[in-house]
Amino acid sequence: MAPNAEEATSVLSEANFEKLVPPQASPWKYEIVYPSVVALLAVHIMAAYGLFLAVTTACWTTILYNYILLELSMLGTTVGAHRLWSHKSFKAKMPLQIILMLMQSMTGQFTVTNWVRDHRMHHRYTDTDADPHNPTRGFFFAHIGWLLVKKHQEVKNRGKFIDMSDIYANPVLRFQRKYGLAIIGFMTFVLPTVVPIYFWGETLNVAWHICMLKYAFIINKTLTVNSVGHTWGYKTYDKNIQPTNNTISEVLTLGEGYHNYHHVFPWDYRSAEFGDSKFNLSKRFIDFFAKVGWAFDLKMAPKHVIDRRVERTGDGSDFWGYKKADLY
Ligand SMILES: [Zn+2]
Ligand SMILES: [Zn+2]
Repeated sequence: MAPNAEEATSVLSEANFEKLVPPQASPWKYEIVYPSVVALLAVHIMAAYGLFLAVTTACWTTILYNYILLELSMLGTTVGAHRLWSHKSFKAKMPLQIILMLMQSMTGQFTVTNWVRDHRMHHRYTDTDADPHNPTRGFFFAHIGWLLVKKHQEVKNRGKFIDMSDIYANPVLRFQRKYGLAIIGFMTFVLPTVVPIYFWGETLNVAWHICMLKYAFIINKTLTVNSVGHTWGYKTYDKNIQPTNNTISEVLTLGEGYHNYHHVFPWDYRSAEFGDSKFNLSKRFIDFFAKVGWAFDLKMAPKHVIDRRVERTGDGSDFWGYKKADLY
């Protein structure tokens, strides 16, 4: 049946709307979400106490255990939520998908589905009001402020233009969505707290607060890509965009710091031109599972395409951030 005039007009205007580039940091009255403010404040206060306990009372095994969980959960985000599910930069067999889903559940950062929707919005509408953590609103908003206020109307309006069909069809992610609260609660808070108490006699007070310290680290490490990675650094691949290459963020996020490269070639599984960068543990993790046979179809930007792009739009710095003019 042909659409009536009213329907045709709304379809047309929606298509036109989709093509419009959203504004950057237009005037906007923030609506604070107080439960989020209280929750994040509480996490950081408990983390500060956890830091005190870590240097005064905690067993070294509790600290080591939480450190391992911290890095595993980072990999759950960088390899799973980011490179595999948001960007489809490689494919993974079911066992690896289950491992990555459980590792991502340790981050306490909602489900992969949530993460992917926000991240695909971030890439499609980078540095505009439709970018959930729009860095043109400043460092604090890009880092954590965006979690403390209601989403911008542009984010709400354009969410429907993001194709999420692959995520909704994925049985592992459907399972995580269905039992999200139980899985994430168990992996992020219960398991890290119970294991030190049960296996080496840590007290509940110490185990819980070190777990909160780990949680605060996870939140802030991940968010540096949005804040630091869109503020300071060099733009080897495209000087016209805000994302930067930044070594601090590279170290903290196990290989996600070459963010200028990543925004130019988001489908490259290395997330950097030179995947053998010593901090890129995410790439090494994928390579290991490629050898096992659980990761396959790894995508990489060809060298000559990268070189052409550097020549055409780069800021004149090389991969390590040195400008040719500095060297000669
Ligand atoms: Zn970005
Ligand atoms: Zn990305």
